[in-house]
Amino acid sequence: MEWWISMPKVELHAHLNGSIRDSTLLEFAKALGEKGVILFSDVEHVIRKNDRSLNEVFKLFDLIHIITTDHTKVTRITKEVVEDFASENVIYLELRTTPKRNDSIGMSKRSYMEAVVKGLRAVDAVDVNFAPHYLGEGNPLKFGPVSDICNGTTKRKIFVRLLLSIDRRETTADAMETVKLALEMRDQGVVGIDLSGNPTVGDWMTFLPALKFAREQGLSITLHCGEVPNPKEIQAMLEFLPERVGHACFFKEDHWENAKSSKIPVEICLTSNIRTGSISSMDVHHFGDLYHAKHPLILCTDDSGIFSTSLSGEYILAASSFGLGKKEMVELGRNAIEFIFADDETKRVLREAFDSAAERWS
Ligand code: 5GP
Repeated sequence: MEWWISMPKVELHAHLNGSIRDSTLLEFAKALGEKGVILFSDVEHVIRKNDRSLNEVFKLFDLIHIITTDHTKVTRITKEVVEDFASENVIYLELRTTPKRNDSIGMSKRSYMEAVVKGLRAVDAVDVNFAPHYLGEGNPLKFGPVSDICNGTTKRKIFVRLLLSIDRRETTADAMETVKLALEMRDQGVVGIDLSGNPTVGDWMTFLPALKFAREQGLSITLHCGEVPNPKEIQAMLEFLPERVGHACFFKEDHWENAKSSKIPVEICLTSNIRTGSISSMDVHHFGDLYHAKHPLILCTDDSGIFSTSLSGEYILAASSFGLGKKEMVELGRNAIEFIFADDETKRVLREAFDSAAERWS
């Protein structure tokens, strides 16, 4: 197995409905086509298309949500996404998703999230730890150190924690409902809040009361920041001091000065940024500058399904684009542990897993 696949990895920026397998999405779309809910021939080429602008990505998400938003499907997607990440040796996954309400099928934000958790419990190809203190039926989810993770003889293990996303189309009250739900679900692995959704829509200040409340209650916060040129918003978001930001494609000099002096870790999604045209080419991607400045950064997939990528793929892409060797990439992967939203004990176990894997390689 190539080193970038067998290397233990930490994924901190993955959207559930963006990470869905193409085959599953097509299967669901076909079934809805047969029921006459959608015209399959109309959606098939949209799903199969590879290059999309940022706006086209959000149009696709609207379609995906029509196709996937029912409890059984959400459970299946969650199970598959976790299995897919585990199969490429992701040992810690922070999976984010927007809790959705759909009265016509009896779905509330809570029942949506219950379907997600059911998906975590349904994974059987790997051992999943999603809530260290969870004592459910048979308690199959507790496990100790993950040091044997890569030897190929034992069942793989993966820690999964959840971030609840606020969509920029939502209201202050919607966002508050999401934060309250996150607080109620802390014992089921929810560790933080994300602000995402089409960056050209809405005003992030709408969500400030909910984000402040989340912070007061001890949840960590990551913001999609600087996906489009909006200097005022970027500045205000940085002043809020989120625990992490995602993308940062349109930061200007003063934004970088601010982010660097505050040491705000950046979730870097190379393929996503290139595919959506947010960054014109890899040689001008801010990864290079941040890496050389030793600024905290984490390689992530964003939407592995939508952008046909994997975390291993992002590591080898970074290595080949910026001339980094295996040693540097392993170091980058290990550093990501420091920026997870889970507790110190989880960090300790993950560091152990990394170090024992590194020993086997040397
Ligand atoms: P979900 O929250 O439904 O599991 O995942 C899909 C949602 O994540 C999208 O509807 C969108 O709100 C958010 N999302 C996924 N990828 C991106 C991205 O690249 N940028 C932003 N701003 N939001 C995204």
